[in-house]
Amino acid sequence: MIVVSACIAGCNCRHDGELLLNEKILKLVGEKKAIPLCPEILGGFGVPREPMEIIGGEGEDVLEKKAVIRDRNGNDVTEKVLSGVKEVVLTIKRLNVKYVILKTKSPSCGYGEIFDGTFSGKLKKGNGVLTAALLKEGIKIYTEDNFEELLDEI
Ligand code: SF4
Repeated sequence: MIVVSACIAGCNCRHDGELLLNEKILKLVGEKKAIPLCPEILGGFGVPREPMEIIGGEGEDVLEKKAVIRDRNGNDVTEKVLSGVKEVVLTIKRLNVKYVILKTKSPSCGYGEIFDGTFSGKLKKGNGVLTAALLKEGIKIYTEDNFEELLDEI
């Protein structure tokens, strides 16, 4: 079983409700090879919601309490995001998931680069909080940009 970021499987869970459907990822869900999860929805956020970014570091720093996540209005939403991340990690362990396909740039699901904390659209190197937590668990990360490599492995 593969876990995929729910927004790229066609769930309208992005902060602005925009549909980001990737048909090939939705097909994996339809074939019961993947399940869609959204750590932000599981953390109790709704749609729409204010965009949020990691301030003062990246996902691993948030896990170590060295950085926080704030929404565009300045509210500290770190604990809510961590709560949703915990739910995804528990589900991944329960289902013995080895691979995930994540949405790039997100403060939760981002891999390799994330928004830089200034809400200006600029990117910086780093992973989102969920990605950092999954790397600690030894989960192999793919994104919507390279997941077709995974299809050859499963
Ligand atoms: Fe949810 Fe992750 Fe998609 Fe953001 S990137 S909407 S947290 S699944």
